[in-house]
Amino acid sequence: MDLQKLLLNALGMQPEDVIIEKYLTNTDQLSTSIAIRQRRDCRHCIKCNGQLYGVKQWVEKKLYGIPLGVFLKVEIIFYQLQGICGGDCNNKTRVAKACFIHPHLRRMTTAFAELAGRWMEETTCAAAERMTGCSSMSLWRLDQWRMKKKKDNFKLPNDLPISLASADEVHMMTLRPQEQRSEKSLWEKKFITNLVSYDLSKVITNAKGRSGRSLQSCLRQLGPELCRQINFLAVDMHDGFIEAAEKYCPNAKVAVDRFHVAKALNKAFDEVRKQEFEQAKQNKDNFQRQILMPSKRFILVERSRDLSKENQSHLEKLRKLNQNINSAMLLVEYFPKILDKKKVEEFRKGLKLWEDLVVEEGLTSFIDFLKTVKKYKERIEVYIKSHLTTAVSEGINNKIKVLKRVGYTY
Ligand SMILES: [Zn+2]
Repeated sequence: MDLQKLLLNALGMQPEDVIIEKYLTNTDQLSTSIAIRQRRDCRHCIKCNGQLYGVKQWVEKKLYGIPLGVFLKVEIIFYQLQGICGGDCNNKTRVAKACFIHPHLRRMTTAFAELAGRWMEETTCAAAERMTGCSSMSLWRLDQWRMKKKKDNFKLPNDLPISLASADEVHMMTLRPQEQRSEKSLWEKKFITNLVSYDLSKVITNAKGRSGRSLQSCLRQLGPELCRQINFLAVDMHDGFIEAAEKYCPNAKVAVDRFHVAKALNKAFDEVRKQEFEQAKQNKDNFQRQILMPSKRFILVERSRDLSKENQSHLEKLRKLNQNINSAMLLVEYFPKILDKKKVEEFRKGLKLWEDLVVEEGLTSFIDFLKTVKKYKERIEVYIKSHLTTAVSEGINNKIKVLKRVGYTY
């Protein structure tokens, strides 16, 4: 049996090109280091493919290799042949071509890059970093490179189940470019608009930003034939989105569904929390300050039965002490019941009762929210009539990972 050949093939290499010189394993770390030398007769210039002459030395390079069985971390010490190029490079010193090195990320073997790339389709760059030991920055660059390659060859199938769709704006925090960091914070908020198929629960197309133009771009990528197949499209409470949806999707009922309403409702609630947090800071009220701070937000928004006993009692105490928080929580608790209504008349009745409550409590952010809801009432009624649940699209939005997937893969 030719085990050397098997090992080289596993690493993505050919015995005609390279030879294994030695290997060291570390069974505690589950890592291995393999020294591999390029053969003398691999004499094609890396730049111009011309013939190298005067080959007598090798340059040492460290490469990430694909995991081998239990050895998750495989380091390849590669001795790359060097010579003088007799081709287009005009007698410059060049190394020989090695096709198992990734064309863009020169410290990775193509086998490693392919596996790490697949991992990053399923999980985050940071998780791939922990598995491979390769820096998340290099992995991120690899991910970008692969996505761009994939996008170039990418075409949407015509039988895409797109009858029920949703346009969701999502945000992510991204690191600012180095030169902008001094004056502003390290992280910057960016928005993406995703077009999601309910049936596939997948992002079909997406575009930068959260304006009407962003949705137009999503729908243009879909093409007129698929746009005609959309029968129901849920969007945010946003004129630009609705206009784009009506312009591009002639057969669609355009709705604002509960997911989008809930998002706006949570925002209204969070404004009350922020105000009360500032107030508690001014009053040096440590108890309220502690429970109203951003990192403790979950205590206010989680269903009370999911909270610990301690947090439940803190919450009860807070609601007794703070009238505004108590009102805001009541308003938030009641609203989903209106969206549960199956008949438009019942929805209208529920909304009217809720409106009276909002006016009575007089919280500015809820008054603003109510204005928005009333403006888009007809669109919300389209949702009430449709009985469509948006659990799918909510699930998608919770997975930040999906944001970076440009396009669509089964
Ligand atoms: Zn050359």
